Amino acid sequence: MTPRVVVLAAPSGGGKTTIARELRTRAPETFGYSVSATTRKARPGERDGEAYHFLTRAEFERRREAGEFLESTDYAGELYGTLRHEVEQVLRGGKHVVLDVEVTGARQVRKAYPRPASVVLFVIPPSPRVLIERLRKRRTESEAELSRRIDIATREVETARREIGDVYDHVLVNDDLDTAVREVIDLVQGGGGGGRDRVQREPGAMASLLSDFVRQLRSEVAQLKQSTGRSR
Ligand code: ADP
Ligand code: 5GP
Repeated sequence: MTPRVVVLAAPSGGGKTTIARELRTRAPETFGYSVSATTRKARPGERDGEAYHFLTRAEFERRREAGEFLESTDYAGELYGTLRHEVEQVLRGGKHVVLDVEVTGARQVRKAYPRPASVVLFVIPPSPRVLIERLRKRRTESEAELSRRIDIATREVETARREIGDVYDHVLVNDDLDTAVREVIDLVQGGGGGGRDRVQREPGAMASLLSDFVRQLRSEVAQLKQSTGRSR
């Protein structure tokens, strides 16, 4: 097996953290994970060195200037980045390395690891309504932060649609978790077998799936804004 860089990009709430965790639990001998660094505060239950390396802004910037990051970005006012040594260590150990990043990170990683060294997936829930419900259920953000993340999500899905083929190899619909995880394993190992209904391989079909998603997401957001306006 040639170890590859597996990039899971998704709007916040798309399910990339959950899928990445499942990959490591089900196939720990095949998949390793790169722990990112961030300046955002830890959520309850998130441990330093596991969920993220939680850094101060000064420390993050110092390490960025020292060239320690493979890629980094500003997301919702906080810095996030992939440390080179995290990725290289997993690859040296003979495992695929899973990265959970937003869209600018996905683009930078694709450049650093062109096909077939990487496989880049964009993950979406079955519908924008489910996306909003999952974000709400996770209860890790305030309503204001949630609304900011939904706005960013809309822009991210638009970006991904423009970059299909260039950056993204596949759009994965994360409906049933078990199916989604099996599909990622299948794609990374190049099998191409089961679950074809969920993995959109044809660029035109992937683009229209994402256009529909953006359209419906905008209409969900408009309805949400109207109902919050009414309840004031
Ligand atoms: P992301 O890392 O992309 O922001 P998460 O992995 O945190 O997303 O998922 C957002 C929420 O959706 C979490 O509460 C998670 O438990 C839930 N979730 C993720 N995938 C599924 C799925 N296939 N079915 C049901 N709930 C899911
Ligand atoms: P969260 O705050 O929900 O953990 O993450 C916010 C966003 O930052 C998510 O879209 C997540 O995928 C992304 N992210 C997490 N780690 C990295 C990273 O190392 N690089 C980049 N570019 N994005 C990241």
